[in-house]
Formats: sequence, structure tokens, C-alpha cells
Amino acid sequence: MPDSRPRLVILGTGFGAFNLIKHLRDDYNVTVVSPRNHFLFTPLLPSTTVGTIEFRSIIEPIRHARRDIRFYHASAHDVDTERRITSCMGVAQPDEFEVEYDILVVAVGAVSNTFDVPGVAEYALFLKELHDARELRQRIIQCFERANLPSLSIEERQRLVHFVVCGGGPTGVEFAAELHDFMVEDLRKSYPQLVTQAKITLVEATKEILNTFDDKLRRYATDLFRRQRINVLTEAPVVKVGKEIIHLGDGSEIPYGLLLWSTGNGPTPFVERIKLPKDERSRIIVDKYFRVKGLESIYALGDCSVVEGAPLPATSQVAQQEGKYLARSLTKRARKKSVEPFHYKHLGMLAYIGSNKALADLQNFKGRGWTTWLFWRSAYLSRIVSIKNKVLVVFDWVKAKVFGRDISQF
Ligand SMILES: Cc1cc2nc3c(=O)[nH]c(=O)nc-3n(C[C@H](O)[C@H](O)[C@H](O)COP(=O)(O)OP(=O)(O)OC[C@H]3O[C@@H](n4cnc5c(N)ncnc54)[C@H](O)[C@@H]3O)c2cc1C
Repeated sequence: MPDSRPRLVILGTGFGAFNLIKHLRDDYNVTVVSPRNHFLFTPLLPSTTVGTIEFRSIIEPIRHARRDIRFYHASAHDVDTERRITSCMGVAQPDEFEVEYDILVVAVGAVSNTFDVPGVAEYALFLKELHDARELRQRIIQCFERANLPSLSIEERQRLVHFVVCGGGPTGVEFAAELHDFMVEDLRKSYPQLVTQAKITLVEATKEILNTFDDKLRRYATDLFRRQRINVLTEAPVVKVGKEIIHLGDGSEIPYGLLLWSTGNGPTPFVERIKLPKDERSRIIVDKYFRVKGLESIYALGDCSVVEGAPLPATSQVAQQEGKYLARSLTKRARKKSVEPFHYKHLGMLAYIGSNKALADLQNFKGRGWTTWLFWRSAYLSRIVSIKNKVLVVFDWVKAKVFGRDISQF
């Protein structure tokens, strides 16, 4: 039977797109295009880099989210706004094809911003996707195994077990915290000599780490890091990255075995390429209904977009609320009902800082320490999208506590 419903094409399967897909009614003929055939729960991604949580416990196949959608495992690479067509390229093979739309939603997120610092793209690791987490996990073990070889000099051994994180935002802090736990709880048993020589250094270009958090919580995290012997360097911009050394603005050099670069967002190549109105940070400019400026049939949301005059942080709770809102408003539009503009409700921020301690910066509550860590775990557990994954995550937490994290490399 021919389908007379408007064709709604959604680009992406992240927080924004996933919530849109979940909350839409059946007024549209929906096609989803994304190079990732699953939804990834990024707030727990740092925990997978050391095996506190397993990779498959935080992903949800997009086809399970909703059965009545068409999904193409491909990347969009251009949009023709005149012909209302988006051109795409398959992931497994570079097959090109076009998808026609009546309404297009761009929810393609962002990539890690290298700020054009020389050497970052070549030598640093990033933490955006599951394959990044897997690479970090492999590299940590690899550094310890290589440092354990008898032929190495002391300097080379110390370099290999020096883990440097650039960027003192929540992702960098949580990775450093997870790595610290991994070292003291698990690696110490297998590499007792090496762990005493191992170091974690957090390098931040501005005055403080976690600069979106409350002042007292920031200081608490910095003090805890110092007590955990995580070296925090502030006002230390990185100017160049070499294969084994990073160069700071003051001329000093830091040898490293692993470098995680986590300094904020930049546009995806797709967003850079498409000819839509964008701000100076290459984010697509939308109004309070998420319509792209000047175009009735294209919407954009999440990290790839910016609401004109009311920019919001690039977080999952923003993208999630925007996705839900757009689902409701597109349903209303299809049913010729009036639509209210979007209002963001800030629920607060959470961060894990190691040694079973966390921070909670909520509207009416500033929490820190062990009880906040319990709150952090239960808050994220409640936000995981399927019962299966909730069970898997609890199982992983118990497994890591009772048997320790796995240190095999394969
Ligand atoms: C390690 C980490 C930890 C985080 N922790 C938190 C946290 O604790 N709390 C919080 O609020 N936020 C957190 N965030 C931020 C949060 O993940 C993002 O703000 C959120 O995912 C943005 O949602 P989005 O839908 O815009 O993009 P994403 O969720 O990034 O999704 C983008 C989607 O677009 C797809 N895509 C990319 N290019 C194309 C293309 N060309 N064509 C089609 N599809 C494409 C991608 O495959 C992906 O499916 C974290 C992020 C990271 C990386």
C-alpha cells in the first residue's frame, strides 16, 4: 500500500534522535540514517575504558527502539534543500544513495575539537564512541605490558606508564578517576612494581578543572585528585603533541605513554559541508522550535545545533529534552495543532571523581563524596534506556567489585 504520510528523515541515533524516535506517534513515515546502528549511553562511556562496565551494557540497537522505522546504516554527506534530498554513503561499503524527505531532522552530534593543535589528530586518543573506549582500554594494558619488558631503560618505562589527559571537563576528569581506580584496585595486583611508577596527569588550559561546577565542588575534586596523586596542571595550554611528548605553552615537555584529548566539541565533517546557516563555532542555527533559520522543512537539535539567542550546553539532558519536545511538536504539526516554543529544564550535573566518590551540582543540592556516588550510580541507572542494560550494568558493577576488572589484551 502506498504510504501517504509525510516522509520524516532523521540523521543520527544519539541522544536527540533516539528520544525523537521513541516519542513520535505514527503520523510520519520515518527513515533513520546513521553510521551507528545503536544508541550509546555516553555518561557511562568512561567506565568502559577500564572495564568497570562492559561495552555492550551501554548500547541499545536502534531497531529495538522502534520496529516501524526504516533504518539505513550509512552517513549522510550532503543535503539538497531545493530537491529535498539527502545523499548518503553506506558504512560497510561506500554505496551512494539518496533519501527524499518532506521533513529532515539533523541530529548528528559533534566530534572532539583538536583546536588545530599540531600532532593531536595523529597521536592523541579520543573518547566519543565505543571504539574509542575499546582503544583506550587496549592501550592502557599495552602500556603496562610494554613497560614490563626487561630491556627498557628507566626513562622509557616511566614514559610508558605516564597517562596524560588533556581537558579538565567532566569527560577528562571521569576518565582520570576510572583509570586511578583501575590502577589501585586491579593493576596493582598484577604489576606491583610498575603501578608505583605509574602517573596520571590532568592538563587544563584554564584556571580550574570542572569549571561548570560549583566552586566548592570543584575544589573538593581538585583536593581529592591531589590526594589520589593525580597531578593536576592548570593554566597549561598544550601547543604541540609529538609521538611521545606533549609540549606546553610555557616551554615544558611531558613524556607520555597514552594521551587522551578531551577538550570540547567541534563540527562533524557533514555539518561543516552542508550549506545551512551556522554560528562562528559551525553549529546550525535554529529557532525555539528547532527549525533551521529560514527553512521550514529542516530541523536540527543536540550538539550540532544552537538555539539563536539562547545557547544551551552540549549535554545529553539538553539533547534528550530537545528530542522529546520535537517528537511532541511534530505530532502536533501533523495534526494541525498549535505548537509552543521549547523550554529547557536544567536538572543539574553529576560527575564521578574516583575512589567511590562523586559530585552532584543540582539546583537545590550540592553533594559530594560516597553518598553522592551512590546517588550518581542510581541516577544513571534510572536513565539507562532498557531493562536489559540496567541489569547488565548492575551485574558489571558487582562483577568488577567481586572479581576485579579484566586485564587481558586481545
Ligand atoms: C565520554 C562522554 C561522556 C559524557 N557524559 C555526559 C554526562 O554525564 N552527562 C551529560 O549530560 N552529557 C554527557 N556527555 C555529552 C552527551 O553525550 C552529548 O551532549 C549528547 O550525546 C549529544 O546528543 P546528540 O544527539 O546531539 O549527539 P550524539 O549523541 O553524539 O549522537 C550523534 C549521532 O549522529 C550520528 N552521526 C554522525 N555523523 C552522521 C552523519 N553524517 N549522518 C548521519 N548520522 C551521523 C552518530 O553516529 C550518532 O548516532 C558525554 C559525552 C561523552 C563523549
